[in-house]
Amino acid sequence: MAKRILIVEDEAAIAESVEFALERDGFETVRAPTLSKARAELPTADLVVLDLMLPDGSGFELLAESRRGRRIPVIILSSRDDELDRVSGLEMGADDYVTKPFSPREVVARVRAVLRRTEAPPEAHAVLAASEVEVDRETRRAVANGQELELTRTEFELLASLLETEGRVLTRAVLIERIFGDGYVVTDRTIDTHVKTLRKKLSDAGVDPNLVETVRGVGYRLGRGEAA
Ligand code: CA
Repeated sequence: MAKRILIVEDEAAIAESVEFALERDGFETVRAPTLSKARAELPTADLVVLDLMLPDGSGFELLAESRRGRRIPVIILSSRDDELDRVSGLEMGADDYVTKPFSPREVVARVRAVLRRTEAPPEAHAVLAASEVEVDRETRRAVANGQELELTRTEFELLASLLETEGRVLTRAVLIERIFGDGYVVTDRTIDTHVKTLRKKLSDAGVDPNLVETVRGVGYRLGRGEAA
């Protein structure tokens, strides 16, 4: 059955272009130019494409609501220069963001990627693998190109977190929470330092260090990591 994508956007031209591209790609769409209309449509949506500045409120409110109960994937449409929106959105659990101006095809690609990611059944004790790197949380071993990596606990957690979230951007704050736990005070620079040492070890093992990809002004994600 076609997936139903809720497009929350008050600018008609943008909403129409996204709608057109999604429908051409086989999705069912519903448009909501206001927060109240979006709220009404949320329960039947499979994914939400969400503008943040709406005439009757902030898209962040809908994002918070979409995190309760049945978790509905959300892709934020963010203004070009609003880094804070992107970071806040990701920290509130948005699955991805697209920066305006964007091509409708880019939105379709993100929608497909997020649906693929969120629909994959969770594997309990999976060995996480990306290109030539494997991480096993049970044995706490990380292997690159068949060779065991000597990672610190922080480096291991960093790599495992990026593998687990498969290409989703993780902000430094989210990484700090995942690695060190709630309430632990470390600076963003601390994460950057661990990323640097992790990249060095990957590179020494013949793996492209850009497997840990920097997303400027936001955080990190798992890159494609082609063999170095
Ligand atoms: Ca708007």
